[in-house]
Amino acid sequence: MRIKFFKPYLTGNELKYIQELLTNERDVGGDGYYTQKVHEFLEKKYHVKKALLTTSCSTSLELAVRILNLPKGSEIIVPSFTFSSTVNAILLPDSLKVVFCEIEKDTLNIDPKDIERKITEKTKALMIVHYAGVSCDMDKIMRLAKKHNLKVIEDAAQGIEAKFKDKYLGTIGDLGCVSFHETKNITSGEGGALFINRDDKELMERAEIFREKGTNRSKFFRGEIDKYSWVDLGSSVLPSDILAAFLLAQLESANMITKERLKIYNFYKNSLAKYENQGLVKLPTIPKYAKHNAHIFYILFKSLEQRSAALSFLKENGIGATFHYVPLHNAPEGKKLGYKDGDFPLTEKVSNCLLRLPIYAGMSVREQKYVISKTKELLDQLTKQKGGTYA
Ligand SMILES: *Cc1c(COP(=O)(O)O)cnc(C)c1O
Repeated sequence: MRIKFFKPYLTGNELKYIQELLTNERDVGGDGYYTQKVHEFLEKKYHVKKALLTTSCSTSLELAVRILNLPKGSEIIVPSFTFSSTVNAILLPDSLKVVFCEIEKDTLNIDPKDIERKITEKTKALMIVHYAGVSCDMDKIMRLAKKHNLKVIEDAAQGIEAKFKDKYLGTIGDLGCVSFHETKNITSGEGGALFINRDDKELMERAEIFREKGTNRSKFFRGEIDKYSWVDLGSSVLPSDILAAFLLAQLESANMITKERLKIYNFYKNSLAKYENQGLVKLPTIPKYAKHNAHIFYILFKSLEQRSAALSFLKENGIGATFHYVPLHNAPEGKKLGYKDGDFPLTEKVSNCLLRLPIYAGMSVREQKYVISKTKELLDQLTKQKGGTYA
């Protein structure tokens, strides 16, 4: 059997909507009929004040940082255990500083205690990541932000459909960013969105202007002005309406896709629980405040050697398991910022020891059982070896 690590789930309406767009000769550029539909869908379903489709979560993050207009030299605190996009967004304007932070062992999310230690007079924002679609402790984070007057950007790239208490991820901080990349739960191949969560007209306007090449074209289309012009710096970060049509079909099936993923996740978790109970490996922990979306199912092994052996074993058996983030602080770019190996021991350990199993809506029960049986075979072998406990 061959099992890919991820596979987009096609709902059946993707082609129907694209066909409709073309048959009715609708405009295929950005901000067309389907983009409006997607904006309305996101705003209604996830209670977003203002949603703006973009070409990726990376561009959403860049947009978020730009529109905050932070003073030169401001520091933004981020976890090192994340994707390069989170940090690129801070450094691209060439006026802001990245301050890395350690993660917590249970959720692998940014550690609020370490955030507190890293806050200085120059700190102006927190950029947090909801790893695996499992929420950060937003009560603690928003309390810190309030106390120190900091903006909060949520990198909720993996967080669509997931919640902190009764709020959707990406809608709690000042700004939230989600991804519709092919590896994420809901996809248009490439794509993302920016969520603006404050009733701040200027912030919303700055976002629209940057997204529309530095012009006030959005205002013009709403009939608020009679011609549009170049009013600020900007770029083109809006997707074609063809992609929005595809994405609408996906979003309309979001409940079903999440339910399917959660079923597989729970099947994995229940089937492998005994190995965690034996102390052989660690499985994901979901805090009481979080409602996750089963974006990632991971196993933490005791060592890099064990994890590497596990990856090879699964690969030999046709299972597309994979590792995850290589820490940013001791990557070549991170070292240029003055960080070094050993600065964040937990981040480094997790990066060495984490393995992700394939998970996607549409995975057959036969495939799920195959993944479980091979993983058990692997863990049974480890049980027999000496000293195989996860510390
Ligand atoms: C996937 C991902 C991104 C990048 O998303 P794109 O839509 O591919 O730009 C950023 N941050 C995190 C945490 C991600 O998982």
